[in-house]
Amino acid sequence: MEGKLSNRAELFVNESEVENTATIDIAEGKVDQSILLELYDRLDAAVWIFDFDHKRYLWANRKTLEITDAVSLEELQSRDLGADMSPAVEQRLRQYQQDFCTSDVSFSEIWTLYPKGQPKVLQIAMSGIRLRDGRMALLCEGREHHKQQPETLRSAEALLHTSVMISLFSKEGASLYRNTASRAASVTLETPFLDQFVHAEDAKDLFEIVERERTHKFVARVKTRSGPRWHELTVRACHDAVTGQPAYLVSETDVTELHETKERAQYLASHDTLTGLSNRTYLQERLTLILHAAKRKNQSASFYLLDLDDFKLVNDSLGHAAGDTLLQMVADELKSLAGPEDVIARHGGDEFLICTLEGKKGKEPGSFGHALLRSFARPKVIEGKQRKVGLSIGYACFPQDGDTVDELMRHADLALYQAKSGASNKCVQFDAHMRQLRDEHRAIRKDLERALKEDEFILHYQPIACTRSDRVVSGEALLRWQHPERGLIGPDDFVHIAEEAGLISDIGAWVAREVAKLQTHIDGLDYAVPLTLALNVSPRQLSDTGFLGFMKSLPEQTGCAPDRISLEITESVILGDIPNARETLTTLKACGYQVVIDDFGTGYSNLAYLHNYPIDGIKIDRVFMEDINAGGEIVKLILSLATALGADVVAEGVETIEQRSWLSRNGCNRYQGYLYSRPVPLDRFLSMLETQHRLAAM
Ligand code: C2E
Ligand code: CA
Ligand code: CA
Repeated sequence: MEGKLSNRAELFVNESEVENTATIDIAEGKVDQSILLELYDRLDAAVWIFDFDHKRYLWANRKTLEITDAVSLEELQSRDLGADMSPAVEQRLRQYQQDFCTSDVSFSEIWTLYPKGQPKVLQIAMSGIRLRDGRMALLCEGREHHKQQPETLRSAEALLHTSVMISLFSKEGASLYRNTASRAASVTLETPFLDQFVHAEDAKDLFEIVERERTHKFVARVKTRSGPRWHELTVRACHDAVTGQPAYLVSETDVTELHETKERAQYLASHDTLTGLSNRTYLQERLTLILHAAKRKNQSASFYLLDLDDFKLVNDSLGHAAGDTLLQMVADELKSLAGPEDVIARHGGDEFLICTLEGKKGKEPGSFGHALLRSFARPKVIEGKQRKVGLSIGYACFPQDGDTVDELMRHADLALYQAKSGASNKCVQFDAHMRQLRDEHRAIRKDLERALKEDEFILHYQPIACTRSDRVVSGEALLRWQHPERGLIGPDDFVHIAEEAGLISDIGAWVAREVAKLQTHIDGLDYAVPLTLALNVSPRQLSDTGFLGFMKSLPEQTGCAPDRISLEITESVILGDIPNARETLTTLKACGYQVVIDDFGTGYSNLAYLHNYPIDGIKIDRVFMEDINAGGEIVKLILSLATALGADVVAEGVETIEQRSWLSRNGCNRYQGYLYSRPVPLDRFLSMLETQHRLAAM
């Protein structure tokens, strides 16, 4: 009898062992229960039933007693195998029990038992057997296994205990063998090879590769009993030792932890933690891919660089948390506007990059940038307050503006530079002149730094006079740059560059100190006149954290009278561009300074907002002199509103006697313009005052 018990009806009994042989009665192919047990005792195979749950022999035949060196079945049954069972063996047994519960399988393995410490190698056939109480027990049939080489025995043992999952599949992918570890992991024991993969495409060309290379190693997500896991698989072409047919030997290890750690590290390295957008890492690769796609599909690709206007102000005045919130809001908005194929990245502090394919389905190059501007025109709520978020966008398009990632990025950067130098909310496409302009700006920027150190700035003063008496009542300090090579340069050519370069606060502080000193000087003259001096304060300077402190200290430092210094600020300061504008202006007023709105009427036609601000006066912009020439209806309106607010009014850019007469007739008391005088150097300004004083004394 080989392996399984024969169910032949006749039984041949060995004559030499006759002593207690019973007569066997076989009726209709059935044997008596007690005889059956005796038959088991005669087998050359050890047969036993093992209780998984209590780790005890439930029943065993005589051969088993012999192999296990048991004196009796009772003695064998009384052995507690759980007492010195290793966790690995315990787990393996649990595994068998599960396997038998889920499917009707049998396994054949080589085991080494150690009854009384002596190794006994058995070839064991195992299957499940259901006990009357419903529990699953193990039915074993073991044969002594003398012929195996130690090498084979050891490798069989290793196969049993290793945590590496080893399995054998037919060429068609049917499961032929799984070691214990593999059985423990696989969802069912019969799952065909390809059905194990979470993504079928992971194994798409696998067999082809293995046929060609004989072996292939890869990492893929695999369905297991404990859910999807990352496995590293090595698949080798081989032959099934039983059938000789071609087969695949697969060894797998679970690399989930390693893989997830790697993925997380890669995510962290390639993404910005605040916004979840890509960062600069790997950007080059992704942009190159987009560019390839554009070339292939004959489409255009646009590279947008986007910069938030005055982000620093939000950060400085509302705090970093508000700044972070703003960045997250912008990132979310970008994500919602961009398509799934587009690349969005945070490129620096408040700079973002979007790369998108355009030029198809009515999407003109540049259309995305304009859509962004429209979307950001709606105010955002930050820290409970509505705020407008200004954007500057520069972009370059493939193919017309460049055909490599580097070139397109450089050109988008130049376009952004251009967009930032003008009014906010601009979307500017690259053009070739920009490079020249940028180079000029860079040169000026470097020059400006030197100018500050070398004291190259000077102030000219333009008198402000009374429309009736033509007496000078005030003077505005206007900045000039005495350039060693280029001569005298006006503020329109460098103030905006100084603002961008962050130099305006230092320059502005110099201006304020000069004006304060002059104010003290004029107060001390023997012909002292109650003259007010005006100076221009840039919005950027106003939002600088050191500005208020500096202005507070100025009277003490220079002895000036702040109530005779007026600070000219533009409408934009009041209209929400500068956070905490009102608080800042109120503090300045509390120090005694006068606050005047410059270039009035150019920003918003609505005067109502002035109510809420501590304003002493307004300067009507010089564009309204045209209106005076045409009847002056707008200026009349401005004057009546200013009167209602109790604000002083100065008319700027007055060039003709007619304009001055009109102003005088219509109740505007002060004017400034070429009619009275152009801005002049300090000594000229002082001599004007002196002359006026002498004339008055006559
Ligand atoms: P603003 O504050 O509106 O200054 C008046 C400008 O109008 C001056 O130009 C002045 O020369 C010019 N102007 C005066 N009267 C007339 C006239 O009758 N007709 C015409 N067409 N123009 C007239 P300027 O000196 O070139 O200054 C330009 C701008 O530069 C100023 O405009 C001001 O916004 C800015 N600026 C000047 N100095 C400073 C400064 O110290 N700091 C800051 N932040 N900005 C300054
Ligand atoms: Ca001014
Ligand atoms: Ca002005």
